[in-house]
Amino acid sequence: MSLVLTEPSHSRTSVKFVRAKGDLLSLLADARREGLSIGLVPTMGYLHEGHLSLLRAARAECDLVVMSLFVNPTQFAPGEDLDRYPRDEERDAALAAEAGVDLVYAPAVEEVYAEGFSTRVKVGGLTEVLCGDPARRGPEHFHGVTTVVAKLFNTVQPDVAYFGQKDAQQVAAIRHMVRDLDFPLRIEALPIVREPDGLAMSSRNAYLSPVERERATALSRALGAAERVTREESLAAGLEAGRRELAAAGIEPEYLEARNPEDLTPVEELDAHPVLVAVAARVGAARLIDNVLIEP
Ligand code: AMP
Repeated sequence: MSLVLTEPSHSRTSVKFVRAKGDLLSLLADARREGLSIGLVPTMGYLHEGHLSLLRAARAECDLVVMSLFVNPTQFAPGEDLDRYPRDEERDAALAAEAGVDLVYAPAVEEVYAEGFSTRVKVGGLTEVLCGDPARRGPEHFHGVTTVVAKLFNTVQPDVAYFGQKDAQQVAAIRHMVRDLDFPLRIEALPIVREPDGLAMSSRNAYLSPVERERATALSRALGAAERVTREESLAAGLEAGRRELAAAGIEPEYLEARNPEDLTPVEELDAHPVLVAVAARVGAARLIDNVLIEP
């Protein structure tokens, strides 16, 4: 099996689909022997413009672009939306091809978690706050993420791996893991892609009814207000303004907090360092997250 890149990436209409880890490893070994740089974009599929921005960045920077497509069961808590998580592999393949992806790795669950799998990669500390608070999604979610991402890093051995700032806590945990475990790669975190009305794109937006979809715009409005008022007055006043914006839409957030974007420790005021203001709220059946990075 060899990977011959015959078509220019931007005009590709089909993409190589790989389900077996062995096939992936041999294709990538060939690529590496040829000296190609490898970019990895991990996804759970049901692609939208947020995913596509990562794929395009990888395409622009790397010789070979690998997208993983895997709805990772270990990052879902019991009773969460694993079973109804939206899936459309055919559409994802077409969009990935259009974005110039060379290879889609779409393993079955058993291919990733063989019988007897019992290892967890756990980043401590910053996975226990915000979404990782045991009263909310909990740290196990992030342990599921770092475990599967560590496995992907080991199988794909990318030079660069691309993630969205939309999942700011995930990015912080992965950066921490890469540093602690000496993964020889670079992490690129790219800006949040939004709908024209401000809603951060997410596969889970598919759960929203038209009325909920409208209400959900309050999250980005709240972050906008938080940033503006923080700059005009103070961070505390900014967070208050954000909470008012949510309350006006009848949304009680799980949290709206200001944190250090790297270690996620609480921040009291905007000084010389960027501040991450992050929000999570349930709107109908969807649990939505969003954030803004306030630069000094
Ligand atoms: P997911 O398929 O939800 O696991 O997301 C795959 C990658 O796309 C993750 O790195 C996400 O942070 C990123 N992503 C999801 N939504 C957006 C968005 N609206 N803007 C930028 N990146 C995103």
